[in-house]
Amino acid sequence: MTGKLIFFWDFDTQWGGDVSRSGTGPKNWGMADFTNTERLLEYHYKFQVPACFAVVGAAALPGERPYHDPKLIKNIYKMGHEIASHGMHHEWLPPLGEKKLGEVLRNSKDALEQCIGDKIFTFVPPYNQPFDFFQKGSISLSERKISKQNRIDIPKLCGMLHQTGYQFARIAYANPMQRLLKLVGINRKHKAKLETVNGIQTIHLNGKAGFSTEALEHLNRAVKKGEFVVVYGHPHSISGTGLQSVEKLLPFLEKINQYIQESKLEILLPRELCI
Ligand SMILES: [Zn+2]
Repeated sequence: MTGKLIFFWDFDTQWGGDVSRSGTGPKNWGMADFTNTERLLEYHYKFQVPACFAVVGAAALPGERPYHDPKLIKNIYKMGHEIASHGMHHEWLPPLGEKKLGEVLRNSKDALEQCIGDKIFTFVPPYNQPFDFFQKGSISLSERKISKQNRIDIPKLCGMLHQTGYQFARIAYANPMQRLLKLVGINRKHKAKLETVNGIQTIHLNGKAGFSTEALEHLNRAVKKGEFVVVYGHPHSISGTGLQSVEKLLPFLEKINQYIQESKLEILLPRELCI
């Protein structure tokens, strides 16, 4: 059995820091996304792990850090990684409406494609939202409350991605039972499964950001059962002390490398999984 891993970095830059929704206002970690990515490129090279960097489109336009650095984005791509869109300025998508969402999808794709000189296939929604996917029993009351008119849910996002030329998206949703179990501390393992939604190949996140024991359990399980596992982090967070810290990341990359050597794990980029 061979497990299959997709590794994402959400590259928010100061555009993301300025619109942080964590409750304590804007953050100033934008510069660290750039400087830490330079370190990440070395680690990923050392452990031979290609990743998908989901980048805000505005970062690919000319200008200075902590908002722009097209040269770095081009370098990430040249080192064999995939560049995905993470919105234009890290927009919260649910209340945007179709017209504005269309602009965000087109403009970010355009800016990134011109920067790397190649096609962009993949989209990673900022904040992992929309979360609302009624057909799967996933209902977000906050998304429904704030954005009553012309709300963007997962099926609508996928439809618009398809229309604007994307082929792949990372999505996150959970039905009430999964959310309830999580609330009481039971984190039932579920597969990161591929599914097609409105013409878009999607992969369903199966854990939170970072390289915790839980992420390692997901990895081990995927290897054992020949399933998919998705991990992700933020470059700026590797210098912190949390689950995305470099102290957690390096042993995780080492474990991945060991599984690759043993032919137990394959690393895939979303663009390789397009329909
Ligand atoms: Zn983000």
